[in-house]
Amino acid sequence: MFSLQDKKTAEKIISKIKKSRYKPKIMHVCGTHQDTILKNGLDHIFQESKIQVTPGPGCPVCVTTPREIEKILTLARSGLTITTFGDMMNVPGEKKSLRDLKTEGYDIRTVYGIEDAVLIAEKNPDKEIVFMAVGFETTAPSTAAVIHNEPPTNFSVLCCHRTMPNALRKIVEMGEIKIDGIIEPGHVSTIIGTKPYRFLSEEYKIPQVITGFEPLDVLAAVWMIIKQIENNKSLVENEYSRVVKETGNIKAQRLIQEVFTLVDKKWRGFPEIPKSALKIRDRYQKYDAEIKYEKTLEEIKRKEYAEPQGCRCGELLRGLITPHECPLFGKRCKPETPVGPCMVSSEGSCNIEYRYHRKK
Ligand code: SF4
Repeated sequence: MFSLQDKKTAEKIISKIKKSRYKPKIMHVCGTHQDTILKNGLDHIFQESKIQVTPGPGCPVCVTTPREIEKILTLARSGLTITTFGDMMNVPGEKKSLRDLKTEGYDIRTVYGIEDAVLIAEKNPDKEIVFMAVGFETTAPSTAAVIHNEPPTNFSVLCCHRTMPNALRKIVEMGEIKIDGIIEPGHVSTIIGTKPYRFLSEEYKIPQVITGFEPLDVLAAVWMIIKQIENNKSLVENEYSRVVKETGNIKAQRLIQEVFTLVDKKWRGFPEIPKSALKIRDRYQKYDAEIKYEKTLEEIKRKEYAEPQGCRCGELLRGLITPHECPLFGKRCKPETPVGPCMVSSEGSCNIEYRYHRKK
């Protein structure tokens, strides 16, 4: 909600957006931005203004692939203690979710962060604890810090961390969707700074604005993109300079580089994206669950895993459809009975849409 002062500023920005003859298609890549947009009715303002602000692959739980879900389910079934964030519990695998396995008696625990998982390992030296690490550059430094600090050897990480810039390159290069501007995520940018986005403006001439999570931030970002288009510019502007520095968080970047290496990886709905994921470096491989439990994971190595039948999360994550265009939305697929991850995670577009506009 806007304060009185913000309301006046917002009204001015909305008026300028409406008056502009440019009606761009803008992508953002952050579930929190989508939440801000729907919670504050900005989507109606954008519709009235005839501009499109579409979510892309900004939900880390949602972009985790069916294969990664099967990996953690396989590790759980093998008798290991699995720890992960609450959202991951309900993501459906081929047949079951982590929550289903927990109900069947497997040792699966929800944690608020990786530190809680390490505590479980310390208190239970007779058990093997695996933490499923999911998230973009925002959460990767915590995982890196824990691994760097040499946790107990009965602790390991199934690393599903991904990095944003090359996913954006992939979307642009795939060419399925025309993108006139990108709203860059505030949290990720706090870590990586402004420089890693520059190639999109320089090579692909796409205006970009890094922004925060208040409704006014999002409105300002949209207006800044329109202004760049009006002035025939393509820059990376930083609306969120109160938090995001040009260089980002150097200490966090160094930690990430120390512990991880960038690798090619599939994202849900995408083919393999070059240098878009983090892998634990060899010197820390005793903490890499993929290596530690290689034999256990062997059984699923050659199997193919597809999206749940009828689920259109992949197209949604590529910005090609809205949740309402999925025939399962609000029918077979609801937060209590999710078919795809976009309905599970609080950062997923279907979950957000369901919460704020269940019916259109
Ligand atoms: Fe996937 Fe459900 Fe969203 Fe459809 S409504 S795209 S099945 S999460």
